[in-house]
Amino acid sequence: MRQILFILLTVIQFAACNQVTKSAQSVEKTVNVPTFSSDSAYKYVQQQVDFGPRVPNTKEHIACSNYLAATLKRFGAEVIEQKATLLAFDGTSLNAVNIIGSFNPQAKKRVLLFAHWDTRPWADHDPNPSNRKKPVMGANDGASGVGVLLEIARQFQIQQPNIGVDIIFFDAEDYGATEDFRGENTEDSWCLGTQYWARNPHVAGYRADYGILLDMVGGKQATFYREQISEYYALNIVDKVWSQARSLGFGQYFIDQKGGTITDDHLYVNKIAGIPSIDIIQFDPNSNSGFAHYWHTVNDDMTNIDKNTLNAVGTTLMHVVYKEK
Ligand SMILES: [Zn+2]
Repeated sequence: MRQILFILLTVIQFAACNQVTKSAQSVEKTVNVPTFSSDSAYKYVQQQVDFGPRVPNTKEHIACSNYLAATLKRFGAEVIEQKATLLAFDGTSLNAVNIIGSFNPQAKKRVLLFAHWDTRPWADHDPNPSNRKKPVMGANDGASGVGVLLEIARQFQIQQPNIGVDIIFFDAEDYGATEDFRGENTEDSWCLGTQYWARNPHVAGYRADYGILLDMVGGKQATFYREQISEYYALNIVDKVWSQARSLGFGQYFIDQKGGTITDDHLYVNKIAGIPSIDIIQFDPNSNSGFAHYWHTVNDDMTNIDKNTLNAVGTTLMHVVYKEK
């Protein structure tokens, strides 16, 4: 993903301001929300990293996709591996696979949880030029979101939520144009797997009430600001998630302030699939990129992954999902 500079219209945000926040406390007592295990989530992050970088068209990528599909099946999901050949900005044909796990597939009311599982082929943001052609390990940028969702999937098998949930691991998110690329049409060079799925959903006419994207949700002392595309398309979901996090005591992670405007998978789920979706993404207002210092460098490895952050995000998400009915 990358941060973009255009300014979104903020007009429609104000209309929805009043109607939120009240649901959390009243339901809290009656719903039994299982306990998210950050040890387990951490293990799922590690297992992905153990394959090596998960770059499309590599054997590590295939091995990890098989692992992800098998793990979702093991947790009781109905799994579809949506394969597609996608054209990258540099002309490369990518053998991509979106991995879709459906829980309670008959339920009308559905929530979509998603993350990208591929990793960036080039560490083009590395301060050391000799590293910029090396792949990114993607412990945080990729594996962290998937790890949290795998742990949530494991919980679904133990205790089914009241609603239907679809977990999608999107491919080819991070094959976007490199920082030194001077060609055209780079804006839509990211999130290729999501763009494909949004135009070709795994179920014809697929609908979900809303979607939540996790991206870079494992960093030490990560902060998640209210991302601007999320507020534009799904302000009430941003409010729901941020107030849930606050009421669980995770206010130091979920900062109640506006963050960047980030081209990420949720943009296309909003724009093409029409499902109001938000992005929980680490944002550092003091860094040049808006992201952590190791973003798109060779240092995005397990040393940056913190179970406390995985726990804050996973627990918040569990409370949001299990309270739906
Ligand atoms: Zn990335």
